[in-house]
Amino acid sequence: MVRAIVGANWGDEGKGKITDMLAKESDIIIRFQGGSNAGHTIINNYGKFALHLLPSGVFYGHTTSIIGNGVALNIPYLLDEIKALTDKGVPAPKILVSDRAQIMMPYHVLFDAYEEERLGGKSFGSTKSGIAPFYSDKYAKIGFQVSELFHEDTLKEKVERVCEMKNILLEHLYHKPAVDPEELFQTLLGYRDMIRPYVCDVSAYLYDALREGKNILLEGQLGSLKDPDHGIYPMVTSSSTLAAYGAIGAGIPPYEIKNITAVVKAYSSAVGAGAFVSEIFGDEADELRKRGGDGGEFGVTTGRPRRMGWFDAVASRYGCRIQGATEAALTVLDVLGYLDELPVCVGYEIDGKVTKDFPTTGDLEKARPVYTRLPGWKCNIRGIKTYEELPAECRNYVEFIEKELGVKITMVSNGPGRDEIIYRK
Ligand code: GDP
Repeated sequence: MVRAIVGANWGDEGKGKITDMLAKESDIIIRFQGGSNAGHTIINNYGKFALHLLPSGVFYGHTTSIIGNGVALNIPYLLDEIKALTDKGVPAPKILVSDRAQIMMPYHVLFDAYEEERLGGKSFGSTKSGIAPFYSDKYAKIGFQVSELFHEDTLKEKVERVCEMKNILLEHLYHKPAVDPEELFQTLLGYRDMIRPYVCDVSAYLYDALREGKNILLEGQLGSLKDPDHGIYPMVTSSSTLAAYGAIGAGIPPYEIKNITAVVKAYSSAVGAGAFVSEIFGDEADELRKRGGDGGEFGVTTGRPRRMGWFDAVASRYGCRIQGATEAALTVLDVLGYLDELPVCVGYEIDGKVTKDFPTTGDLEKARPVYTRLPGWKCNIRGIKTYEELPAECRNYVEFIEKELGVKITMVSNGPGRDEIIYRK
């Protein structure tokens, strides 16, 4: 059985916590897209961890953690991340890396930074982890698969060919130092030795695992609205954030994905540029940012303050639909206990007309939020274990959102910890 855990919003919905929690009953957890450009925060018995490349199930002894072919694999970064876990006393996790995963090259990270610098104020708000240059090269067919590290002769020749092209851009577009092909080749041989113990034919491994009836989780990074096709293009990421892509980025048949858990945040937050209809500013935003998540809404990878907003039913319903959500997990509900009233964006006004459908980017930029206000519950709901014990106003908020989403909310998260979850029938 395969279940995908994916974001219905702009990312940072708390997928890491839900994955970590559900990993307890799973055998295999797979990252299928993205790279080290975003992170999950996990809090458990070993401490607090920021994971960027590793899937969130790495803390259990019984799970296998997989980096699928769809991921942008930064090899030294991955090894550092593994070491950071074992240094804190986490037992060495079982990790497999697809032989078809492509490698984040040192020049991808440089190009990302150089391009942001070149664009100046018009930048996309990249995390400068090399993601856009990496995926551009993958689809331009000049990327490097892990498998290529094990064929020295062809590797050397390809490194020389690719450097020739990169160096033209470095010299003439960016006016930056050239890449030395011999040095790069040696770096890649170093990468080969680092990654060797983990390399695996992942799709074959998963084929067998599925036949043996194993429980598999696909862990998404970012959320629906950052998908390059269905998100707020071009203010998106460079790999698909949708559950459907899980089949490709892991190498399994699409029909094996039986459950799609869309993680929906009880308010909105976003990083990077782009239209954000229910965004709030000033003291109102600062207050929510300070109280949000676990210790404030600041990027796990970049430390940047996140943009804040009220719950956006238009964007979240669309986010769930495009994920194909079979259920929703509503997270960080506890954060909202301080409010007298909770504004919920239930429509977008575009050119004088109100719509409940999420538009394409041009119209999105013109959209103004239409709010409904729900009464606050004015108390701390952390520690509550059953849905019935939640204050009536709080249940009202959950049920209002559920109706707007059109998807059953099966889990309500009321704290960052593994066991801070309320299941609903
Ligand atoms: P992800 O990328 O979707 O996994 O999300 P992040 O890890 O970036 O952001 C979620 C943040 O919220 C983390 O700091 C979590 O520890 C925290 N978190 C997750 N669920 C809850 C919750 O229900 N309540 C609170 N207060 N924090 C939560």
